[in-house]
Amino acid sequence: MKALFCFGTRPELIKVAPLIREFPGLGITPVVANTGQHSDLLKPLFELFQVKPDHDLEVMTHGQTLNGLAARLMERLDPVLVSEKPDVVLVQGDTASALAGAQAAFNRQIPVAHIEAGLRSGNMMSPFPEEMNRRLITQLASLNLAATEHNKNTLLAEGVRSETIQVTGNPVVDALKWTLKHVKPGDAFHDIYARVAGRKMMVVTTHRRENFGETMRLHLRALRKFASNHPEVCVVFPVHPNPNVRSAVADELMGCESVLMCQPLGYADFAHLLSKAWMMVSDSGGIQEEAATLGKPILVLRSNTERPEGVFAGVARLAGDQTENLEQLLESSAHDAAWFAKAATAGAVYGDGTAAQKTAKALLEQFSVEVRLAA
Ligand code: UDP
Repeated sequence: MKALFCFGTRPELIKVAPLIREFPGLGITPVVANTGQHSDLLKPLFELFQVKPDHDLEVMTHGQTLNGLAARLMERLDPVLVSEKPDVVLVQGDTASALAGAQAAFNRQIPVAHIEAGLRSGNMMSPFPEEMNRRLITQLASLNLAATEHNKNTLLAEGVRSETIQVTGNPVVDALKWTLKHVKPGDAFHDIYARVAGRKMMVVTTHRRENFGETMRLHLRALRKFASNHPEVCVVFPVHPNPNVRSAVADELMGCESVLMCQPLGYADFAHLLSKAWMMVSDSGGIQEEAATLGKPILVLRSNTERPEGVFAGVARLAGDQTENLEQLLESSAHDAAWFAKAATAGAVYGDGTAAQKTAKALLEQFSVEVRLAA
């Protein structure tokens, strides 16, 4: 069976890499189409996971609009589908690349399998446009690879047929466990860890479009105040390359000694930092899953989450509705020993690290001609 992966952003590659690596040993030939939606962040990840793109579509342009991006994606994906003739196209999550991959495959009558299916925030405008993307992909997919039972139930409640849903766990757990086990941290990790110098390390990231502007600035001001009042804490903040994030950070955090800012880190360095973190503050989806996997408490800089499993398990707390009070929330959370203890025992909230094997099995059961004939 030939499975074509279509993706183009950092979180997608982290999550599909374990599958691309494992599939050849499980009877599936992976073909990789990198759309290049996030060109700079992907190169080191390909090297880390020893995965090579078969097709580089280079869709990214300076100041790209969502519609311009969608048009380029569709135009450049189509010839790849025609030449490769895959048995199935795999897309992950909710990006423009994922939606375009699913739609282009559907138009060519190639089955679509959706990794991380069934996530819903319930708000079409947050995350935007991802909530709509993931709902549209559900309509296009013939196999829904749900990370959790909760995601499966969400799909069932929307009328998705149960025989098209398989619960696999989230492959981010595979990626995180593999990386921590097999890849040693590099210079960037050692440099940052030395500068943390035994203080409690709070790892912070923010990049979501809904937070751009005043909301992000309020978050940063609260973090600055909290860090200044707590010499025992060191905030480590890899700053996303998006210009909206950069300018807010430059205005709000420059000169703040207790906030250690750096460029986005390679995944191995970042994963090792997370494993040593005291707590996390982030609006990232993947980091919510990684926090739970590592048993670390996380304040989510959003007012909703499509990953409520972390909240149910007592690992994640939503901070978004309390932007004005984030500083108080940081204070109360930092002293909440019960929260830290509960997070530490969260366990396999998003999977057990075997999503690649479960996904391969689901694909072979659903799409392999040999298996269908034998049944
Ligand atoms: N990440 C990374 N280096 C960093 C910050 C994040 O490798 O400096 C990883 C993180 O561990 C997670 C992924 O990037 O697996 C999350 O990506 P992002 O926050 O861009 O997207 P989201 O998960 O919100 O879709």
